[in-house]
Amino acid sequence: MLASVISYSPVGVEGQLIYVEVDIRRGLPGVDIVGLPDNAVKEAKERVRVAIRNSGFNFPRDRILISLAPAGIRKEGASYDLPIAIGILIASNQLTGKDPPHIMILGELNLNGNVKPVKGVISAVISGLSKGVNFFFVPSENLTEGSAVKKGKVFGISSLTEAYKLFTVFAHGEIPRTPMLSSNTGTLQSTGPAYTEPAGNGDFADIKGQLRLKRAMEIAAAGFHHILIFGPPGSGKTMSAYRLPSILPELSEEESLIVTRIHSVAGFLPAHSGLIKVRPFRAPHHTASIEGVIGGGTIPKPGEVSLAHKGVLLLDEAPEFKKVLLQSLREPVEEGVVTVSRVGSSIKFPSEFQLVMTANACPCGNLGREDAVCVCSRTEIYRYWRKVGGALLDRIDIRVPVQPVSKEIIFSEKGESSKIIKERVKMAVEIQNERYKNYPFKRNGRIPPGLIEEICPLDTAGTDSLYKATEKLALSSRALHSVLKIARTISDLSNTKKIKEEHILEALQHRRYGDSDFFWNIN
Ligand SMILES: [Zn+2]
Repeated sequence: MLASVISYSPVGVEGQLIYVEVDIRRGLPGVDIVGLPDNAVKEAKERVRVAIRNSGFNFPRDRILISLAPAGIRKEGASYDLPIAIGILIASNQLTGKDPPHIMILGELNLNGNVKPVKGVISAVISGLSKGVNFFFVPSENLTEGSAVKKGKVFGISSLTEAYKLFTVFAHGEIPRTPMLSSNTGTLQSTGPAYTEPAGNGDFADIKGQLRLKRAMEIAAAGFHHILIFGPPGSGKTMSAYRLPSILPELSEEESLIVTRIHSVAGFLPAHSGLIKVRPFRAPHHTASIEGVIGGGTIPKPGEVSLAHKGVLLLDEAPEFKKVLLQSLREPVEEGVVTVSRVGSSIKFPSEFQLVMTANACPCGNLGREDAVCVCSRTEIYRYWRKVGGALLDRIDIRVPVQPVSKEIIFSEKGESSKIIKERVKMAVEIQNERYKNYPFKRNGRIPPGLIEEICPLDTAGTDSLYKATEKLALSSRALHSVLKIARTISDLSNTKKIKEEHILEALQHRRYGDSDFFWNIN
């Protein structure tokens, strides 16, 4: 007899519905799995055999063929255990009755028949719903995640026996009135998992002095601008970068959903977690591989650039990263998506992050320091910056030089708290949400070149200052665009519709480095 059960493969963010077909016929006892299974899937036959027996069912002594369709997609992991087991119980007439409605079944089995969690559950539910599947059996540890979509009926399953019983209810033509574990318990709004912890790790009040840097961080947060912080060691670059999340606006519901999907397919969502509510903050080490940062693998997985989607990607000591890695950041920084290639095809992952880079101004670290001498040659400094690459630097709106603060400032009073700064950021974000409600982008840092003039109108004095500055500083058109975008954010932070001269003058401060400074001008 033939049975067909719906399951899911987390490839990309969307993923793909997988049909698990089980055919049992007379013949030499044995099990074959076809349809590009990896080793973990091939081993399912052993796990499922033992789990079925240990749950009190019979494992058929016939020829069993398990086909995972569509065949062209490589299947990995153990999440097909439960659908395969249910398929075998149906095909061997141990589970009988009417044809149930479409039910998606996900879950790994251990040998005693208990169900273990799998990755990509939230994406599985969203994809299933879009294909007309309304009922979902998911591992109970993934129930909160699966229910977070708030559509369809999602059942938390803890064992094969439980799945069998629930399926039997469906096979009797009934639909269970409420999920076995209620998906309406209010636990859906749980906060993000532990990896977002650095976000809560500090307050801007801890940073004394550095007013210009703090202001630049506020502008970056409000407009989702990329930012480079450069200067000697010990000037608080890293400390500030780690405090950026403390002033970032909350994720919208839509953003929360996509962030959760990405982290779920990557397998980074801890058990019992619902939607991620905290903006991601990713800080890969400079030894990180390209695959780890950009994404990749036989079955492509999202990298750091996608895990940072709608949040922050920090490259601390950016020039220490591999050159090829820095260069490959160009696409995600520019497009907000990253293409991960694999044999014969490629997959796109979202990667709209806010790039934060820190760097010394030169290899020895002393450049820009008042109490020390830089011993680097001009060539060494060129080479140092060339590694980061003009193409990437060009796309960074805000560049802030920093210096170590003096002793008097260290012992001075605390600065403005993150809470107060965040209030201003929030207001500026609300203004942008309103302004961009009919645009595909939502923040000033993402205004495409063609729309800059329309979206950033200047008053007369502002136009004059910008004109003078362009001449005096020989600003490139890209630099000019950056200045206008930053000025737009500054005016939003002060709640003014038109960009004024003072906004332009301040914006020029934050985008000064890049066109006239020799150590910077590397192309
Ligand atoms: Zn130096």
